[in-house]
Amino acid sequence: MLLKIVQVGEEVLRTRARLLTREEILSEETQQLVEYMRATMQDAPGVGLAAPQVGLPIKLAVIEDRAEYHAQVDPVRVAERERRPVPFHVLINPKIVSADSASVEFFEGCLSVEGFSAIVPRARTVKVEYLDESADPQVIEASGWYARILQHEIDHLEGTLYIDRMHTRSFMNVENLTRCWKDLPISEVRAKLGISVS
Ligand code: ZN
Repeated sequence: MLLKIVQVGEEVLRTRARLLTREEILSEETQQLVEYMRATMQDAPGVGLAAPQVGLPIKLAVIEDRAEYHAQVDPVRVAERERRPVPFHVLINPKIVSADSASVEFFEGCLSVEGFSAIVPRARTVKVEYLDESADPQVIEASGWYARILQHEIDHLEGTLYIDRMHTRSFMNVENLTRCWKDLPISEVRAKLGISVS
């Protein structure tokens, strides 16, 4: 079953999601939700989907970055983003316990801000503690694009969207991103859009 992905303006996207108990995680309902979210993310397609995006204010997200998605992108862009395949996994009650103080900037989008994109600074590396779908504690140390996905999804669980963190002057529709900007180095995009050096 595919779930409806809600769009910016829905209150649930601005609500701080609540933690799940062990019992809730192991429930039939949550296990079913994970499968529905997985199907919905793959259908979109997207590399992450957080429960608030399907209308549920709970701390659960799914992530998967498939090698086949990378085949559609210029290999130079894949390399500069440090984008590597990430197998499907579930993130429950996640917490960023440390993050690189250095940030990297790339265009980012969101299935709940459909049709738009902007440059968003994110930490290059993060360490995240979370529970998996068996309610077992896990730790991830991620870098590059995976670290960006994690930060984006964990933001959703706090009611934060990328538009809260973006360089506002870089906000644009995907059509214009594809037409004019996607193959330029970010430094050049920043200069042309008048984004000052931070
Ligand atoms: Zn999103």
